[in-house]
Amino acid sequence: MELTRLRGFQDLIGPQAQTLAYVEQRARALMERYAIGEIRIPLLERIELYQRSTGETSDIVSKQMYTFTDRDEAGSVLALRPEGTPGVVRAYIEAGLDRSDPEQRFFYSGPMFRRERPQKGRYRQFYQFGVEVFGRADPACDAELLIMIDDLRRDLGLDFQIELNSLGDATCRPAFRAALLEYGRQHWDELCRDCHDRLERNPLRLLDCKIDVRLAEQAPKSLDYLCPECRRHFETLCDLLKAAGVQFVINPRIVRGLDYYMRTTFEVTSSNLGSQNAVVAGGRYDGLVEVLGGASVAGIGFAIGVERVALALHAARAPRAQLPRVALIALGDPAVRKATELARALRGLPLQVELLSTQRSLKAQLKRADKIGANYAVIIGPDELARAAAQLRDLGASSQREVSLDRLASELAGGLAH
Ligand code: ATP
Ligand code: MG
Repeated sequence: MELTRLRGFQDLIGPQAQTLAYVEQRARALMERYAIGEIRIPLLERIELYQRSTGETSDIVSKQMYTFTDRDEAGSVLALRPEGTPGVVRAYIEAGLDRSDPEQRFFYSGPMFRRERPQKGRYRQFYQFGVEVFGRADPACDAELLIMIDDLRRDLGLDFQIELNSLGDATCRPAFRAALLEYGRQHWDELCRDCHDRLERNPLRLLDCKIDVRLAEQAPKSLDYLCPECRRHFETLCDLLKAAGVQFVINPRIVRGLDYYMRTTFEVTSSNLGSQNAVVAGGRYDGLVEVLGGASVAGIGFAIGVERVALALHAARAPRAQLPRVALIALGDPAVRKATELARALRGLPLQVELLSTQRSLKAQLKRADKIGANYAVIIGPDELARAAAQLRDLGASSQREVSLDRLASELAGGLAH
């Protein structure tokens, strides 16, 4: 085949697409409970948005973005969105909400694009479900977001570990940063190439280096440098999480490299996954709205990797409630007419109803019913139609009986009750 899909891009067919939709659906249902409204933003933005927010030194901006020049807008370079937060912040400012009504909570859901090395759980187009809250600087808000993630975990029947850290703020971060820089310089000969490149511009990145693990573990910790306000914020957050019964661990290596990230940062991993086990990442970004030209408004958010949660569900084989499936088999035109009408009525019950191809024989249709995993077959031939009845076959028990059409719905509903 000549026209194949691109590397790192996926076709999601049938059950695969369904699991993704299921994760999104459960997350959406949760948003309603938390009174968080949806925001839909473009997939395409000017490259400057990401350069200014995600940052020139980040992996995303320095090597992972899909960019192109636009024919219609001379000189402008566009980028497929690699993450949701910058676009949401831009939209929030552009709508004037930062000044008119700064306290807002949004969720978004959709594809992101990053040119990275494809592997299991890592794709070039992947889906994120994210939440952003503006105008709330209090730790109760941080706690609420983590409780939300724990609610989703419970709802999906998965195993998540929440890892929490605080990066401090403009008051206490400089001393921490200086200590880290000093530490990096002292251990210069032991650092990897990336850390050499990044140390002066972005010393915090040393902490999440996957190569210099031992060095990162022994490096100075932001928690030891927190000013009293940041300490109080972090302790209150931990306290609220304990009160709500949310399990978490403190991990001083959870960092975000950019200055507008402050205080709370967190990552969530799932033990249901292998090497790409991070399922959620998030944190506080109180300086970002201002960096993008808005008012000085606090912000905090997180993004869920939807494919990874779907993979975790698959690995955990977490049972998912599925509606019983009914295959409708009609033989002859008058029966097809009846079956079409009946299918519509049966879909009013908690059932999956599929009218099978009426051009096939009874035998072929029964085979098809098996193949699609139907629990029941409802068969209407000319004789049944004359008696206003149908054969109701329980495909699991291989038993069959005749049921009058006006009783069929209640018979099926009765079967569902058992
Ligand atoms: P990682 O360290 O795995 O590269 P990240 O720090 O780049 O993650 P974020 O940008 O914070 O991740 O995105 C949040 C979540 O989105 C991640 O925890 C992960 O579940 C998911 N994610 C990120 N990149 C990909 C990708 N290329 N394919 C699939 N899911 C991804
Ligand atoms: Mg990444």
